[in-house]
Amino acid sequence: MLAHGRPYLAIPGPSVMPDRVLNAMHRAAPNIYTGELHTMTDSLIPDLKAMARTKGEVAIYIGNGHAAWEAGLANVLSRGDTILVLATGRFCLGWGEMARGLGVKVEVIDFGQQSDIGMGQVETALRADADGRIKAVLAVHVDTSTSVRNDVPGLRAVLNRTGHPALLMIDCIASFGCDRFEMDAWGADVMVTACQKGLMTPPGLGFVFFNAKADKARDTADLASSYWDWRPRVNPGQYFQYFDGTAPTHHLYGLRAALDMIAEEGLEKVWERHERLARTIWAAFDVWSQEGPMALNIADPAKRSHAVTSAAIGAPDGDRLRDWCERVAGVTLGIGLGREPSSGYFRIGHMGHVNAHMVLGVLASIDAGLKSLGVEHGRGALDAAATEVGKVG
Ligand SMILES: *Cc1c(COP(=O)(O)O)cnc(C)c1O
Repeated sequence: MLAHGRPYLAIPGPSVMPDRVLNAMHRAAPNIYTGELHTMTDSLIPDLKAMARTKGEVAIYIGNGHAAWEAGLANVLSRGDTILVLATGRFCLGWGEMARGLGVKVEVIDFGQQSDIGMGQVETALRADADGRIKAVLAVHVDTSTSVRNDVPGLRAVLNRTGHPALLMIDCIASFGCDRFEMDAWGADVMVTACQKGLMTPPGLGFVFFNAKADKARDTADLASSYWDWRPRVNPGQYFQYFDGTAPTHHLYGLRAALDMIAEEGLEKVWERHERLARTIWAAFDVWSQEGPMALNIADPAKRSHAVTSAAIGAPDGDRLRDWCERVAGVTLGIGLGREPSSGYFRIGHMGHVNAHMVLGVLASIDAGLKSLGVEHGRGALDAAATEVGKVG
């Protein structure tokens, strides 16, 4: 009854698309042979690299995050290679399963659903691999199912300390443009991301960033078909080689607008905004969880993502709350992904084109839903959230 008006898709991807991105895509089909599309595409590359804080390369694929996953694996691995997957939720497990499907031997250390990567266990595993069988270590910066944020510089430090030569491969699909990430300074060799989260563009573009060490692994990797090969894409002699075929014309215009918006706000400011909005959400949960079943999934604020929040509420109230919020308030919350039963959990996406009134609106809608559904909760969450926002002068 109250849902008519602008809907808000508050899930961890795809995220809210700015009108500016949508308007940039609203155009006639451009000439793909020559002219503006080519120069515009060229202009994306330095901006993407600047966002990843890397002097390395970036290859663009027409595909979602899963495509970027496969592209990243295929360019550095061969059938029979061994990799180490550091799982902190559904997503790194999924990346590892994909590698296994490609014929890679996958060793998994699973840190569970409520923890970040434990560096001690990683160090033990790497030291045990004295002859360097492990070709790559895979980790997710922000696992979107648990909303944990992993310590990437910490992982690099373990690799350095143990002198292990494995490539460090990081999934930044949820965190890119939301949580601070500095590819070169943090020592990631490969980073994969996609356009439909912090980059605010409709699903359809995957990105693989890589450094010279990872590109050297390309020399021997036998998993990459000519389509997934990143080399022609980062050094296209002809325009069609950027995408090994037809360019994703309209996505590129959308991405150009999104990168402009990020540059105008300033990447540091974008990260700050995400942090402040995340703190606003946590402030509300701190109060809700004082009574009743609600609890943030990650206890330590220093290990929480600024892009997504995963919470427990008890089955089946996660589903009931999501249904209420969409039906009555026009806001769609994320499902409890990778959890059993999933109806006992829900997630809030706060990535990309999100501001204080949107986050306050989501929180107020959840608060109203808890009251309407009779779910026990601590009172005063909205006051706490407003106080957090009010700290900004
Ligand atoms: C969304 C997401 C993916 C999957 O991306 P798709 O575009 O759905 O293929 C992978 N990893 C993380 C961390 C994600 O957030």
